[in-house]
Amino acid sequence: TEPPLDELIASIAVDVPDFPEPGVVFRDLTPVFADAGAFRRVVDGLAAPVLTDPRVAALRTGDGDPGFDVVVGVEARGFLLAAAVALAAGTGVVPVRKAGKLPRERISAEYALEYGTATLELHTDSLTAGQRVLVVDDVLATGGTLEAAVGLVERLGAVVSAVAVVVELPALGGRQKLAPHSVHALWTT
Ligand code: AMP
Repeated sequence: TEPPLDELIASIAVDVPDFPEPGVVFRDLTPVFADAGAFRRVVDGLAAPVLTDPRVAALRTGDGDPGFDVVVGVEARGFLLAAAVALAAGTGVVPVRKAGKLPRERISAEYALEYGTATLELHTDSLTAGQRVLVVDDVLATGGTLEAAVGLVERLGAVVSAVAVVVELPALGGRQKLAPHSVHALWTT
């Protein structure tokens, strides 16, 4: 008898008070990724709700179609998840990276952090118009990061099937920022 996935994640993740700054409770998922059974369930769980998402149903071509053609992962912890989800689903994986890491022609999106700004980038030829994309990251907090990543995907003419995260912190309103896209979270806390 396995525990529900949200309980499993909650029992393995480690809360770190006042990291990276006073007042923030950092949800450290690295122990979840390090646990073979939990990692397997998390990876399967990120793609599973996409299969039953009514918004994605219109994009699916048949029973064997997961509803996305490629998985986009956000640097850095999103990479750990996106590659595994893509392998399990039989798709490729595309990185959204922090400024200055991608070597070829790229588009950029600047977004606000609590203090200052950050920039995410995407190779211009990494997605094609109409391609269906599952966007993956570890934690949805304010939603600024995923909003920027979604914007980059859409600027290339690709279609966001859904956004999938392991942890959602609903008090910070990230889900509202990503509307009308579907957001699937494995653990809401
Ligand atoms: P945001 O743009 O505010 O949604 O923040 C999302 C990014 O910051 C994600 O890539 C998370 O990895 C990281 N992050 C923000 N808040 C936390 C938190 N409380 N615990 C762990 N990671 C967080």
